[in-house]
Amino acid sequence: MLAAATAAASETTTPGRKPTDSAQVLVITGSDPYLPAFVAIDAAMRDAVAKNRQAPVNWLYESIDTLRFSSRPDQLLADVLARKYEGVRIDAIVLVTEPAVEFYLRHGAQQWPDTPAIYNFVAAQYARELPADARLTGVTAEVDFEQTLRIALSLQPGARRAIVIAGTAPWDQTLLASAQRALAAHSDHITVEILSGQTPSAIGAHLAQQSPDTIVLFVSLLADASGLAYVPRDVLARLSAESAVPVYGTFESYMGSGLAAGALESFRARGERISELVLRAIDAGASTLPAEPLRSHCVADARQLARFGLDSGRLPAGCDVRFLEPTFFQRYWWQSLLVALALVGQSLLIASLLLQHRRRRAAELSLQAQRAQLLHASRLAVAGELTASIAHEINQPLGAILSNADAAEMLVQSGQIQREELLHILADIRRDDLRASEVIKRLRALLARHVVDRRRFSLNQAIEDTAAILRAEARRRVASIEYSLDAIQADVMGDPVQIQQVIINLILNAFDASAGLAPDRRRVRIETSDTARGVRVTVRDYAGGIAASDLPRLFDPFFSTKSAGMGLGLSIARSIVEAHGGTITAANGDIGAEFCMTLPIAPPTEYAEQPVPAAP
Ligand code: ADP
Repeated sequence: MLAAATAAASETTTPGRKPTDSAQVLVITGSDPYLPAFVAIDAAMRDAVAKNRQAPVNWLYESIDTLRFSSRPDQLLADVLARKYEGVRIDAIVLVTEPAVEFYLRHGAQQWPDTPAIYNFVAAQYARELPADARLTGVTAEVDFEQTLRIALSLQPGARRAIVIAGTAPWDQTLLASAQRALAAHSDHITVEILSGQTPSAIGAHLAQQSPDTIVLFVSLLADASGLAYVPRDVLARLSAESAVPVYGTFESYMGSGLAAGALESFRARGERISELVLRAIDAGASTLPAEPLRSHCVADARQLARFGLDSGRLPAGCDVRFLEPTFFQRYWWQSLLVALALVGQSLLIASLLLQHRRRRAAELSLQAQRAQLLHASRLAVAGELTASIAHEINQPLGAILSNADAAEMLVQSGQIQREELLHILADIRRDDLRASEVIKRLRALLARHVVDRRRFSLNQAIEDTAAILRAEARRRVASIEYSLDAIQADVMGDPVQIQQVIINLILNAFDASAGLAPDRRRVRIETSDTARGVRVTVRDYAGGIAASDLPRLFDPFFSTKSAGMGLGLSIARSIVEAHGGTITAANGDIGAEFCMTLPIAPPTEYAEQPVPAAP
């Protein structure tokens, strides 16, 4: 700054600068230049000048500080400044507060006779009384107590008392007078108590006692009665913390430091307005035009409103409510967005999985229905093959019944009623009838279009039942079925009819293979045994076995070496066995084919209700 000042000293003193020339502005503050309000206004002023002027501006600062040093004659200071700025070109002077204006009027006119001066932060009344001087203009501090009181009364409509807090500094007192004038308009319903010059601790203790019908107006407290200086904003913060009622005020620097609400002017706007005058002074060389005063507007602190339960809805329309707690979504908006997206994505995924599941389930059900139909059709085909033997098996008991009926009739006609013999005949008739109906029952069980059953049943028993169904067919083919059911744990879970269907198929294939051989080789042997993987059923014959080249294709659908064969029996058998969780294989034994089916044994009875593998 010193270098810049020295450089500027050699420049001419013609008023007005080209915007491309650098310039120097002297800021004289009448009090502590670091009061928050002055710092904020100064920063806004310098920002605006820098933004709107091409060449740089060099800022020089002096503080008169008559508040704390008022008893000292300022002539000494004036002399120091006169020496300091001798020959230094100053393009504009900014005078902050009334003491600075006073100093300028006393000494500056001689020191800087041609330099325009701009006052800032002086009372309007004071500005009006200034001597007419073309070089002096500025922006007064329009402290709006009227509007501030209206805001306070709208937030606390039941208020009956007002406490006004002010210091003893001239500025404090000027403002206090203005506040009192504003309060006079409400004197019919508000009693006023003035706390002037008291220490912050005394005021705080008093405010802590107040009832909700009291409003507190914090005017300014630059000094107390003992002359101790304060930063008003810091005093307010302390008082507000102790106060039992809301505190109102008129300066933006108070906002955020405990002020509930007030009519405030914007320090940024003030700084910008001063900057316009500074630029005009630098570049036009004069500041003849009066400056527009600034308008105050309602500002409130949401935290203080909440603290005292004040309704922000009562504030004037357009009031600037600051320090609103951001809502959860405002604070965590991107996290919320991510979570929402993840939820939507997850829901879509779940929906699509459910849809897929439903479709798959529907497809499975339709497949199951088709397979059940196929199995039924294949059982009907087997029944067709067995027609001759079935007819014979039913015919036999029917014939026996007929002969027994004939014998009984003859006995009755002979007139020699032998009761014992008749009873014997009737018992035979019943037995034969039962035999025939047993055959029909077994066939119906096999052929009915039954729903797929899942239950625990004995494989040994299922084999015996199957052998009974095929007994007549065996007789017809002059063949025999032998079995040796040695499995001890032969209980399996599933559909007994389907398993019977597999066994019938294996036995009929063995019969087919042995057709044309000597009767002693037309034998089918069925064995059951326990293995580590479950119960094993072996169906073997003595008919020479399967050609090695056919073995790999045996279970393929439509593979048949028979002239009238469909080639579906073994493929259906395998699908049934696999659906029961088992395996079926074909191999060649010593003198014939050997089919091995292994099924898992049923779990112990207490777990029998658990689901079993889906069967076709
Ligand atoms: P199909 O009996 O209609 O031919 P299968 O699937 O039941 O259909 O049998 C397929 C083929 O497997 C038979 O054509 C036959 O060549 C062969 N086969 C099945 N069982 C035996 C067996 N016990 N001995 C020899 N070949 C057999």
